[in-house]
Amino acid sequence: MLNIALFGPPGAGKGTQSEYLIKKYRLFYISTGDLLRKEIADKTKLGREAQNIIASGGLVSDEIIVQIIEKTITENPDSRGFLFDGFPRTYIQAYILEGLMIKLNTSLDCLISLDVPEEESVSRLLNRGKTSGRSDDNEKVIRNRLKEYNDKTLPVLEFYKDKGIYKEINGAQSIDEVKLEIRTIVKNILSKKLYNIVVFGYPGSGRGSQGIAIAKKFGLEYVATGPMLEEEIENDTETGRRIKDLYDSGQLVPDEIVVQLIEKKLEESKGIRGFIFKGYPRTLVQSYILDGLLKKHGSSISQVIEIEVPTLELIRRLDERSKTDRCMPYDTSTSKIVKRLQEHETKTVTVIEKYNQLHGVVKVDGMGNFDEVHENISAEVEEGMKSMR
Ligand code: AMP
Repeated sequence: MLNIALFGPPGAGKGTQSEYLIKKYRLFYISTGDLLRKEIADKTKLGREAQNIIASGGLVSDEIIVQIIEKTITENPDSRGFLFDGFPRTYIQAYILEGLMIKLNTSLDCLISLDVPEEESVSRLLNRGKTSGRSDDNEKVIRNRLKEYNDKTLPVLEFYKDKGIYKEINGAQSIDEVKLEIRTIVKNILSKKLYNIVVFGYPGSGRGSQGIAIAKKFGLEYVATGPMLEEEIENDTETGRRIKDLYDSGQLVPDEIVVQLIEKKLEESKGIRGFIFKGYPRTLVQSYILDGLLKKHGSSISQVIEIEVPTLELIRRLDERSKTDRCMPYDTSTSKIVKRLQEHETKTVTVIEKYNQLHGVVKVDGMGNFDEVHENISAEVEEGMKSMR
């Protein structure tokens, strides 16, 4: 996700620059001013409460703002990102935004402040007033809006300066010059963002071999808990011996062990474009753990892919594999294979459903040959990455 807040006094050009950002990065636009004007036009209770304050150029209460923002954000949780215009406008609203972002398991990437001298704001707004039809675009109200901005809104900048995500642009330049500077800022943010994929599929769906190939093609780090655990067994560590016992009885390995191994992997991987997780998360608990682990690295899940293969074909593939040297300790017998398929059915399918609601899960047909499936997955990844550019 890419989340940006455009900041600046009334008339700084936030609305104009927003149009470009929404189109270019396909962001969901949230202008609290627009939302309030809609409430007023619809004659809702909130609209009636806000009407007089807006007409006088004052700031609407944080209570009203939190209600309209919460409604809009939670109705669009699967958006690629949000662009806030005119929010946060008070120090309290900066905290509200933090809370809302946490709720969506994301964070604000930057606050871009368009710096414009006061008299320039006034003359722009008076000019706009000739055609905008906005009753608050007249000199008396404009002066009050600017006073509110200086008193209540400017202190918000400190919040973001402290967080290190504050960027300032000279808003008195031409529209195109401002646009170019915004573009440079956003490009820089995107180049530092990790692209993280979770690949799902029943055992035997090809998620492992496809995951490795996708990781190689797109410069991602392949994180597969299975092989990590295998390595422990091979090195005959104490953890490895515990894991082996669990495998033999067809059980999942406890989260404590897996978390430590993933954490190590995330920490050791530097200068990569992102991660591709295979075989993790398998349970709802693990999905929360993964969110937490990625968050610790200032990142989150970018795309979820599920490779679909019918059950009979899965059994056929796993049975075949068990007769080759690619046989895994957990598919040496039919009962173990069935147990693994069951584990996926009862625990992991719930995780996929959760992701489907949160991010949308891309389903890919896993029945073709390796190259066909690989091409289909690649196309989805390319599409996903493109939307981040
Ligand atoms: P705008 O369209 O952003 O210029 O907002 C117009 C008016 O709506 C402002 O002068 C305020 O009265 C009100 N308003 C918009 N956003 C907020 C906000 N985040 N907090 C408080 N009042 C707001």
